[in-house]
Amino acid sequence: MTSTTGVATQELAQWLDATLNVAAFKDYCPNGLQVEGKTHITRIVTGVTASEALLQAAVDRHADAVIVHHGWFWKNEDPRVRGPKRRRLQLALKHDLNVFGFHLPLDAHPEWGNNAQLGLRLGLSPRWNADGKPELCGPDNLVWLGHTQDGNTVQDIADRIRTTLKREPLVIGDLNARPAKVAWCTGGAQGFMDAAIDAGADLYITGEASEPNYHLAHETGVAFIAAGHHATERYGILALGQALAGQFDVQVEFIDLDNPI
Ligand SMILES: [Zn+2]
Repeated sequence: MTSTTGVATQELAQWLDATLNVAAFKDYCPNGLQVEGKTHITRIVTGVTASEALLQAAVDRHADAVIVHHGWFWKNEDPRVRGPKRRRLQLALKHDLNVFGFHLPLDAHPEWGNNAQLGLRLGLSPRWNADGKPELCGPDNLVWLGHTQDGNTVQDIADRIRTTLKREPLVIGDLNARPAKVAWCTGGAQGFMDAAIDAGADLYITGEASEPNYHLAHETGVAFIAAGHHATERYGILALGQALAGQFDVQVEFIDLDNPI
């Protein structure tokens, strides 16, 4: 390692904030540099969630920074530093690890975001508006709207989830239907299904499911697929890491610690 490699922590933090347009989001957690560590970063570990296991994997690899989609310090969580929270923080502080978290800004980014990247993997084409932005709906405009590239059936999309995401999806609805309009939002966005229905979608894809989704699907004829919270949110942070490696003289490793939920 020489002094010519890597990037100053502040420079990286500023670039990430600007590129992901962090200031534009009202979120349930702080976005950006959440825990300050070393002032210079050469080795970066990325992952979906800043769990104790991911932090430990980063320490084992002598990383200088961890960048995740699910960071720390969520609204409504118990602010006391006890138990798992203490152990996570202790790992970061003891090893001078920088911890960056990007929640909604990483869902929404038009190129590297979770929704953009999931669409690519499932063969879903967003509807692009005249101003070059994707057509969106739902709370905070988090739900993407588009169509399948090949007139796929619900079954085809479910098969693609199995092969590409390596996840058994929960599918409610007619497997032989060919949805003309598809809505999708990664992660725990099952509560946005009614927004997708209002926007005219024939199929709504998200990560998690809740009991009402079943009834909504049956009573509206809009198919519903839950493809896993973790499984649908691997790809934004992966794409962001690739962009970082192209932008700065840093090593980036994505670590996928599987989570069945
Ligand atoms: Zn999430």
